[in-house]
Amino acid sequence: MEKLIMLKPYFSHTIWGGTRLREEFGYDEKGDDIGECWGISAHPSGESTVCGGEYDGFSLSRLWEEHRELFGYDRGDRFPLLIKIIDARDDLSIQVHPDDEYAGRHENGSLGKTECWYVLDCPEDGELVIGHNASSREELVSMIDEGRWDDLIRRVKVRPGDMIQIEPGTVHAITSGVCVLETQQSSDITYRLYDYGRLQNGKPRQLHLDQSKDVITAPAPSADKQIIRARKTAPNSVDRLISCDHYTVSKVSVKGEFSFGSDAGYLCASVILGSGRIFDTDVSKGSHFIITTEGTGKVELSGDMELIISRA
Ligand code: ZN
Repeated sequence: MEKLIMLKPYFSHTIWGGTRLREEFGYDEKGDDIGECWGISAHPSGESTVCGGEYDGFSLSRLWEEHRELFGYDRGDRFPLLIKIIDARDDLSIQVHPDDEYAGRHENGSLGKTECWYVLDCPEDGELVIGHNASSREELVSMIDEGRWDDLIRRVKVRPGDMIQIEPGTVHAITSGVCVLETQQSSDITYRLYDYGRLQNGKPRQLHLDQSKDVITAPAPSADKQIIRARKTAPNSVDRLISCDHYTVSKVSVKGEFSFGSDAGYLCASVILGSGRIFDTDVSKGSHFIITTEGTGKVELSGDMELIISRA
């Protein structure tokens, strides 16, 4: 059985995207509006495909359906995670996601969306929108109705290496100049709360104010509870950053040769810095792959690189 499934990403083009994913991550994708690289995705809105090996050309959802043995016979009805790199040349809209229960009821049985962001890069004074300043639901609703966006939106300073957990119900937005690796539930349900009054093809993009009011948590938890601040990781280590009901995300630092074992049925992995080898395959910044159940017991790495890995 193969230990490694290399994946070719799907790219999403957006009004706030740019060229950095091509220029800094080496992706062969045209256009100056590349917003998101869906590195590991079996979501129908954009799938990654297997690149090389026995299953070359398979979509990830087909691999999941037909070769569940690679994933340790996980019994889930769909591949549960979605790993993206997001490059914001411009501000993303202010948004919020529902939880599984709300999405299941209102969005054709879709999963809700819990997500987390590992900050790959940001400007000197980089900020993200995380939460809001309303002290109660009544205040939240009136601030939305009155369009008091500057008062409502909570901006939090971040720096590279910070990890932010975005629970369903959290108002959030990635802002201009920030680049993150996002690990999320495989869902595409987003309620747009505010779009800075921007136009796309002459028209404002659709807002979802009623759904937003339904799902936003009020008051918002303190930002400190949602951010794991950057810390130095020792070379040749696995540093667990976040663990919740939907995923566990860790950072792996490799210098020279390193191996580690996991009892996960499979692992999702993305190289975020440098280059090296995993088993006998060359990988570099921007590579995304799945370590199958055959490989997780002893993952063999070498080179000079950092990876973000996750398990469901
Ligand atoms: Zn989001």
